[in-house]
Amino acid sequence: MNKICTCVVPCFNEEDAVGFFYEEMCKVMEEEKDRTQFALLFVDDGSCDRTLERLKELKEKDDRVKFISFSRNFGKEAALYAGLEHAEGNYVVTMDVDLQDPPRLIPEMIRLIEEEGYDSVATRRVSRKGEPMIRSFFARKFYHIINRISDADIVDGARDFRMMKRSMVNAVLSIKEYNRFTKGIFGWVGFRTKWLEFENVERVAGETKWSFWKLFRYAMEGIIAFSTVPLTIVSIVGVIVCMASFLYFMFVLVRASMVGNPVAGWPSLACLITFLSGIQLMGIGLVGLYLSKTYLETKKRPIYITKEIG
Ligand code: UDP
Ligand code: MG
Repeated sequence: MNKICTCVVPCFNEEDAVGFFYEEMCKVMEEEKDRTQFALLFVDDGSCDRTLERLKELKEKDDRVKFISFSRNFGKEAALYAGLEHAEGNYVVTMDVDLQDPPRLIPEMIRLIEEEGYDSVATRRVSRKGEPMIRSFFARKFYHIINRISDADIVDGARDFRMMKRSMVNAVLSIKEYNRFTKGIFGWVGFRTKWLEFENVERVAGETKWSFWKLFRYAMEGIIAFSTVPLTIVSIVGVIVCMASFLYFMFVLVRASMVGNPVAGWPSLACLITFLSGIQLMGIGLVGLYLSKTYLETKKRPIYITKEIG
């Protein structure tokens, strides 16, 4: 019996890319047809262009194509979750529609799982060709920091392009949190993973949905979802500042008893007050960030809302 493999493909305003993606996938599906039976599960993440129409057209002519359409844009993380929930078969691949995740790697992924016994094959791009320098710089810093402060094992340049066995898909689905950071979740669930490397490819059509600000928020989400170290740092800073102020207090006391108390030091006092209130506000803000995530989690809102399924 052939194995069944479902490709989960989130799409947000990708009317131009969908066709190219489908053509590339057809080549791979043809090549693999004796070994694996494929399904393409597109998740239309509330696109406002003609993406959904394109998907319906594809479904008309090819019954391997399936789609889920959201009632609005819920973000790629939600789209991935919905895709995994609806994906059937032994293997599931998550990949972008813009061909930045080369479909030609799929046969190799299947081989690694079937012949070398891996549970999952993940990919990372080894270059960031075609990406603004500043974006690459901050991305590298982000991976460095998150790996030091959390137990989610996140590889620099890791993509969401990954093939998983059913057991791993079920593990990922068992994590039902609302604030999803899929890259971290993949690492957190464990399983034996093989990393494939490839050169960065530029998107085939359309443009990236990620502004610098969106990426920054994504990075913050990742850190907050997978680490409480920032809270520890704030507490430690608090203790250090307390100790420093105690030493300063002793110094003032000794000086006053030895040389009297000339009225001086207003500038330093002003500096101290502004500095300390800055630290306090930062600390409260940080605690607030964690609290806001907890707040959203406790509401237990659905991760996505389906408008149409086909
Ligand atoms: N995407 C999505 N919802 C969003 C943003 C993006 O489903 O809110 C999809 C998008 O259609 C693409 C993938 O996620 O298939 C990656 O997006 P993009 O190519 O813009 O990101 P980049 O490759 O630049 O990181
Ligand atoms: Mg892309």
